[in-house]
Amino acid sequence: MLKPRARKVKILATLGPASSDPETIKALMEAGADAFRINMSHGSQAEKAALVEAIRALEKTLHRPTTILFDLQGPKLRVGKFKGGSAMLEKGQAFILDRSKELGDTSRVELPHSELFAAVEEGARLLVDDGKIRLKVRKASDDGIETVVEVGGKISNAKGVNVPDVVIPIPALTAKDKSDLAFALEQGADYIAMSFVQRPEDVIEGKKLIGDRAGLLAKIEKPRALDRLDQIIEVADAVMVARGDLGVELPPEGVPPAQNRIVAAARLAGKPVVVATQMLESMIVSPTPTRAEVSDVANAIYEGADAVMLSAESAAGQYPVEAVRMMDKIGRSVEADPVYSARVHFTETPAEATTADALAHSAAQIARNLSVKALACYTTSGSTARRIARERAPVPTLVMTASMKVARRLGLQWGVHAVHTRDVGNFEEMVGKAKRMVLRHHLAEAGDRVLIMAGVPFKTSGTTNVIHLVKIAGDELDQPSG
Ligand code: PGA
Ligand code: MN
Repeated sequence: MLKPRARKVKILATLGPASSDPETIKALMEAGADAFRINMSHGSQAEKAALVEAIRALEKTLHRPTTILFDLQGPKLRVGKFKGGSAMLEKGQAFILDRSKELGDTSRVELPHSELFAAVEEGARLLVDDGKIRLKVRKASDDGIETVVEVGGKISNAKGVNVPDVVIPIPALTAKDKSDLAFALEQGADYIAMSFVQRPEDVIEGKKLIGDRAGLLAKIEKPRALDRLDQIIEVADAVMVARGDLGVELPPEGVPPAQNRIVAAARLAGKPVVVATQMLESMIVSPTPTRAEVSDVANAIYEGADAVMLSAESAAGQYPVEAVRMMDKIGRSVEADPVYSARVHFTETPAEATTADALAHSAAQIARNLSVKALACYTTSGSTARRIARERAPVPTLVMTASMKVARRLGLQWGVHAVHTRDVGNFEEMVGKAKRMVLRHHLAEAGDRVLIMAGVPFKTSGTTNVIHLVKIAGDELDQPSG
């Protein structure tokens, strides 16, 4: 059994060629990965099904509900494939993006988005691979786009293309996204990530297709999404600060204030927020990160993000396990800092006028005043757990739920350790189980105090109305388990 993490921030690791075999995925989980991202932009559905199978098998052997997030490509423009996987582009040369499915080379490549051919004009910039390569449009026709390379470099298979100067008439979910979405739901996805969300209507469209089968995470990577951020967060179940594309379309210096704003807005709404992209970028090729990268991860944690994400570091890098281990260490180091809690609470998240918030807020307050080792709650829908997480309490929260789906979905939530248990019949049974579970999961020891939140009468959803302070005697484990 995996022990609860010694940190509250969660780690979301992207799986890919460097981390597809069950042994590596297991090593990632042991190193600290709480949730996995399966990126639908690369690879086949069959490969993804094998990943899900591996994660679900490990979930059983390691007794840890594990979040699987399927990331839909969205209306992201990507180039086609190259002979040998890549081509080197030199500044000043001509380069063509066209309709031909033939493998690309240094003179041309497919751009399977012909909508763009009519939409771009001479002089427009095409930014490839997160802006590392810059092409300037010389001429566009129905056959393709002729460009001049302004900034060269290695261009490889399926690299993204951003067109900041042009509004592209493309829907929020492409045909590929809809097919991938159906597949992801079939595979039991816990979250579906929607890319390039621009408007709350995009999220609503996604939610209509998903229903309550999975949570919807809106990736904030378009400057236009920032204009209606609060409305987007209101209809989404989670958000991501997708700094890769955001930093291509915004000037890079525009990203930190945007990150700040997105994290604060999501925390206020009580929805999990993931900070993503280039967090430990140099670890793709190096066993140790730069000091600046370590600081970046640390600052996201000081800001109170629910989760930090690894992209190519864990999906395609040489040191996937080391990258997770590094994030885990940064999380523990930051959270051990005596000023950490004060820094997190610099972002204000006043309790809303609901019983759940009043109790969650009081529980966190009591945990600050007394030496309480953990909070514990029982949840049917996960909502009590989310409102407790929103309080950013100083101790971990053990969440018991009879729904594996709910337990899995809590994997992106700050400070929550979700445990899948059998249903309990009444309040006393739940208290007994909470005591056993905190012991079994090493969240408290004999003599420690634990705060339990519950609803009485039991088994009516939305009735959390009791805060119960208990002392762990230590002989709870002798009682019948369940
Ligand atoms: P991506 O999203 O890795 O799917 O592009 C994250 C980002 O843009 O930062
Ligand atoms: Mn992106």
